[in-house]
Amino acid sequence: MSIYDKYETVIGLEVHIQLSTKSKAFCSDDIRYGGAPNTQVSTISLGHPGTLPRLNTRQVEYALKLGLALDCSINLRNTFDRKNYFYADLPKGYQITQDARPICMGGEVNIETSNGPRTIRLHHIHMEEDAGKSIHDIDPKASLIDLNRAGTPLLEIVSEPDLRSAEEVSVFMNTIRQLVRWLGISDGNMEEGSMRCDVNISVRLKGATTFGERAEIKNMNSMRFARKAIEFESKRQIDLLESGGKVAQQTLNFDPVSGTTSPLRKKEDAHDYRYFPDPDLPPVVLDETYLNSIKAAMPTLPWHLRQTFIEKYELNVADAALITEEQSIANYYQNLVKVSGKAKAAANLLINKIRPYLSEHQIAVSDFPVPMNHLAELIELIENGKVSNSIAYQSVFPAMIDAPDQPALAIATQLNVIQSSDDDFLEGLIDEVLNKYPDKVKAYKNGKKNLLGMFMGEVMRNSKGKADPKATSDLLMKKLQEM
Ligand code: ADP
Ligand code: MG
Repeated sequence: MSIYDKYETVIGLEVHIQLSTKSKAFCSDDIRYGGAPNTQVSTISLGHPGTLPRLNTRQVEYALKLGLALDCSINLRNTFDRKNYFYADLPKGYQITQDARPICMGGEVNIETSNGPRTIRLHHIHMEEDAGKSIHDIDPKASLIDLNRAGTPLLEIVSEPDLRSAEEVSVFMNTIRQLVRWLGISDGNMEEGSMRCDVNISVRLKGATTFGERAEIKNMNSMRFARKAIEFESKRQIDLLESGGKVAQQTLNFDPVSGTTSPLRKKEDAHDYRYFPDPDLPPVVLDETYLNSIKAAMPTLPWHLRQTFIEKYELNVADAALITEEQSIANYYQNLVKVSGKAKAAANLLINKIRPYLSEHQIAVSDFPVPMNHLAELIELIENGKVSNSIAYQSVFPAMIDAPDQPALAIATQLNVIQSSDDDFLEGLIDEVLNKYPDKVKAYKNGKKNLLGMFMGEVMRNSKGKADPKATSDLLMKKLQEM
């Protein structure tokens, strides 16, 4: 047993989610990503004296949706605080956030890991605003500031220290990403920084009842790097403890190039943020009627839909998970089941042909060229044995994409791939094969029964996919019996 096996890694996350509202948290500036630097900045974003923030109610609505989806309890009265610090990309000198009384309390995220399901408890979710961006890699002599992002609405999810591995963190983040996209509150795009997380990490001997001292790795915006950072840092802490040292409570930076963490600041120089209630913003007071209207508009959640697909449509867990990854795909699937009446065959077509086509061509399912009634017809041709599954996937489906206004049957007929269970047609094919291999027929009659597969294969090949397998095999057996 290695020393590392004696320890357990303990992780708590602070996940920042950038909301896909039109305007900023406290003013009407556009929040769109990618605008020319400093063009989406009013006097409020710039923090000019005398300006007043005004709450974007969409941010509240989105926070409630997320909180309800994660079983949080809602603070019907919640408040904004100022978190004071000086930094060039924070022109006001403070960030508006929720400290004392956040909008959502508690809640949980259920994740499916390779060791089975786990429940990760949440501490709370609060609303806040983002800072601007400092850019250090364009000008060799100066740092540049882009304040377009300043004031963008964020939700911060703070988990309890319930996560135990890099894998669990990765599944947790993917689950949150799927949920925020599903709810339509964020695009969840980590590369563009719409989702970032701070990773709090400590280690302790397995079976210990108290937590170890933790370090915090700031601003991870790639799951690959987060996994690397966690693995590196937990090993670093174990090595330190094993050699008689102590883990210092500190803030760390992860360097993706070297794959290592290094201190940003120690606990002794941690900021005193002097949180206090923001006098410019009144408390957010929600009434039950409003909360109920949000509840009523909540969509079925992905994990509930996944369960429904498993129970009602008898899909396996992996297929159900794939189909519920995105809401648009899940909706499309439900419609295809409705139109075709065939849940399993619809799932197969969606997973094996339609989804790969969408990702290859980078299009949304709403832009898939073939209308649903034609797809339903294709499913019916497969299910009735009129077209073999492989021919349907390899020839008919691509031809339907090339001619989306043509029904599946017309295309299959043109391609001459309709399977036949017509006795004359099959008999001709079978006789041809049996006549070609008299020795093999003799061997079969003498007991080499596994030659049946060879006869069958040859007949099917000669039919160019047109022989109905069931009818062919029945007739072939009959013929061999009679010989
Ligand atoms: P602070 O307010 O100082 O940032 P919190 O107690 O609010 O500290 O915790 C912040 C995050 O750190 C939470 O996600 C929490 O789960 C996590 N955390 C707290 N203690 C530990 C620990 N010993 N090991 C790992 N994570 C921890
Ligand atoms: Mg914190």
